Amino acid sequence: MSSADRDAPGFTTRILHSDRSDGIEHGSLHKPVHASVAYGYEDARDLAAVFQGRQSGYSYGRQSNPTVEALQRKLTRMEGGLGSIAFGTGMGAIGSTLFALLTSGDHMVSSSFLFGNTNSLFGSFGQFGVDVSFVDATSVDAVAAALRPETRLVFVETIANPRTQVADLDAIGELCRDRGLLYVVDNTMTSPWLFQPRDVGAGLIINALTKYIAGHGSVLGGAVTDTGLYDWSRFPNIFEGYRKQPPAQWGLQQIRKKGLRDFGASLAPDAAQLVALGAETLALRMDRACANAQALATLLAAHGRVDRVFYPGLPDHPQHERAARLFRHPGAILSFELDANVDLFGFLNRLEVVVSSSNLGDNRTLAIPVAHTIYHEMGPERRASMDIRDSLIRISVGIEDEADLLGDFEQALNASA
Ligand SMILES: *Cc1c(COP(=O)(O)O)cnc(C)c1O
Repeated sequence: MSSADRDAPGFTTRILHSDRSDGIEHGSLHKPVHASVAYGYEDARDLAAVFQGRQSGYSYGRQSNPTVEALQRKLTRMEGGLGSIAFGTGMGAIGSTLFALLTSGDHMVSSSFLFGNTNSLFGSFGQFGVDVSFVDATSVDAVAAALRPETRLVFVETIANPRTQVADLDAIGELCRDRGLLYVVDNTMTSPWLFQPRDVGAGLIINALTKYIAGHGSVLGGAVTDTGLYDWSRFPNIFEGYRKQPPAQWGLQQIRKKGLRDFGASLAPDAAQLVALGAETLALRMDRACANAQALATLLAAHGRVDRVFYPGLPDHPQHERAARLFRHPGAILSFELDANVDLFGFLNRLEVVVSSSNLGDNRTLAIPVAHTIYHEMGPERRASMDIRDSLIRISVGIEDEADLLGDFEQALNASA
């Protein structure tokens, strides 16, 4: 049972009533969008006090905004933690967080099964003197073998896209705790409704709000949440100036200053309002999308024109039991390979309900030919090393009526010879 169930009130109730519990403006049931960039003070000494951190308040929109802060509190309540910082995109959250925390000479261990742009970002860390070891994170042994004295953190995703490998989340959490390492978990694929990385000892949680949390494919956003489990006094890279408060605050403080403020990948207040609106139905949408995904994976696995199907909810998935133990549902992403005789683009073009598109977590079901799009840039050799075949299609399963979704795949497969 995850902490989402243990805590009262429940997960969705907490989201719905989060803004009210923080004090409501004008009786407004939704946090208003505060569009102002700057904030004025009648007494200039108050402005100075805000700048110096002696007084709470707002100064400039890149660093803080009341609408964005309301969303941050909501995200903290969803993940269970000390605090959150929102960014303009998921990549903004990952890049700003790691640039704020790592320095030349450091080493980090990352899963080799990563969102493509995260993989590309980590590939550039070498030019700043940060060495990254990419390992098969489905086994804690691979992570343990890669650790060095200068290792500062371990970064994994929960369910990897497109092949749906499930990281050895709880064992890696224990390893990080034993070694005093910061454990960073990208929870985008599962969202806090399916899984709370705090339960396996994560210190920082990344969420691409763009995907399931906002949900409707209409807004970009990202966030980092500090769970409070990591002891920042063990982290050598905290600047002297950020060590004044209790150590629990150090990490977020440095990410807020060196990441959010200095890189400026800030979330806009109108985007924050859309994310907050989407979050209200996260649990409802995910339950439905995951049920659809399970039904679709079962249909595809039994179809003669499909080779391999990758979905943690299928009993023959290598991490099926791990997913069943850790996650409320096995997610709403699956991928599959068409039989070699089936024309890939002909099949995709025959789908009528399903849209050929990138993105994940829209209410609509989206299909993308992986090797030809999101994995095109890495080239055929790297794809072969990751066992990404040309016939692989990733599906982000939406909330359509199940019969319509299954019927669409059936007609398109049956018409493909
Ligand atoms: C999409 C995604 C991101 C990046 O999010 P953006 O909002 O697109 O920048 C990061 N991690 C994972 C696992 C993702 O799926």
